[in-house]
Amino acid sequence: MKETMVHLLELQEVDNALDELRRARETYPRRIDELRRELEEERTTLEELKGKLQELERQKRHYERELRRAQDELKKHKARLYEVKTNREYDAVQQEIEAWENSLGQNEEVLLDTMAAIEELTPQVADREQAYARSHEEKQEEMGKLLDKLGNLEEELEEHLKRREEIAGRIGQRLLATYERIRQGRGGVAVVPVTREACGGCFSQLPPQVVVEVRRGSRLIRCEYCGRILVWNEE
Ligand SMILES: [Zn+2]
Repeated sequence: MKETMVHLLELQEVDNALDELRRARETYPRRIDELRRELEEERTTLEELKGKLQELERQKRHYERELRRAQDELKKHKARLYEVKTNREYDAVQQEIEAWENSLGQNEEVLLDTMAAIEELTPQVADREQAYARSHEEKQEEMGKLLDKLGNLEEELEEHLKRREEIAGRIGQRLLATYERIRQGRGGVAVVPVTREACGGCFSQLPPQVVVEVRRGSRLIRCEYCGRILVWNEE
């Protein structure tokens, strides 16, 4: 019987590992998808910010051009003031000069606003770019690790299943069925060691007589509270 108890504990350990591997097989791909999505969102935000900056730069060039044009026109019209021959002509040119002066003032104002916006946005873009680079590196690394683990997963599952078959072969059919039944009802854990005179599954204190019997290992003892099979852990 004592040997059977050891096999039961081994079986539990191999089943724990199998459960873990199966969980990983489900959760790793989800985590990888999540990381990909996060990265994509971060990249989109960065691109949007960069696009905004580019648009501002484009506006800046536009207003600079307009400003130069207004300056040129003003110079031209002012020169013409000396060439006009009549008062009417003089008034007309004077009016155009006023109009170009207005345009110059407006363009200057908008250009200054645009330059201020660029000055504000440029460091933001740089910060965001750095943050993205960092995040990209971290997430790529995590994804790489998960993909590696996923690559080995099937092989590991295969190995553990083989080992499980070996161990299960040493345990009788009826005991095996009991084991499976408890495992199903108790979150996958059917065999637990006695720890400090308590059940290692539900942590209920066990009567001294039960502890002695588990230690002796001459018959199958189950926790009277949670029903799990109790074994004595030699270490
Ligand atoms: Zn218990």
